[in-house]
Amino acid sequence: MSAICVYCASGPVDRRFLDLAAQLGTGLAESGHTVVSGGGNVSMMGALAEAARAAGGPTVGIIPRALMEREVADLGADELVVTETMRERKRQMDERADGFITLPGGIGTLEELFETWTAGYLGMHDKPVVLLDPFGFYEPLLGWLQELRGQGFVAQRALDRLHVADSVPLAIELATAR
Ligand code: AMP
Repeated sequence: MSAICVYCASGPVDRRFLDLAAQLGTGLAESGHTVVSGGGNVSMMGALAEAARAAGGPTVGIIPRALMEREVADLGADELVVTETMRERKRQMDERADGFITLPGGIGTLEELFETWTAGYLGMHDKPVVLLDPFGFYEPLLGWLQELRGQGFVAQRALDRLHVADSVPLAIELATAR
């Protein structure tokens, strides 16, 4: 079974987004996968981890010491790794994952999505990179990237490296396909 790293928001408390994160946590746990996350218990990050554990799935949280208060360290995680830097957090999240799923989020989520996506495109890893976007949250971004492809800034091969899923089961299938 795989370990799937999920990137998602640490801000909003809108039910629709919390439910999506919870559905993904439940889905990953029920299909036997470990959830690797940023180790916070706020917003979508919290909903994801709590739902995964409620469904009997293991969760691994990786959080920088400096963010333990701000992001409410997920003390219920089966494994909570406290790092000294953000770079170390990202390195551990990346290394422990067999695949990546990104949900709606803010600049932290976007940064993580782009880092794993570009690294995959450049051949630095071969793990699936999936965007779970059932609400069209990322449509403006994807539309802009298509425009950039038209202007030669972005290669079609780069766009092809990102799988966009409109449902939780499809995202899990794509992220765990080897
Ligand atoms: P956000 O999408 O801004 O709500 O942030 C989601 C998660 O990304 C939070 O756990 C942030 O700590 C994390 N984050 C913020 N900045 C970065 C960064 N430069 N690299 C990696 N993760 C980050």
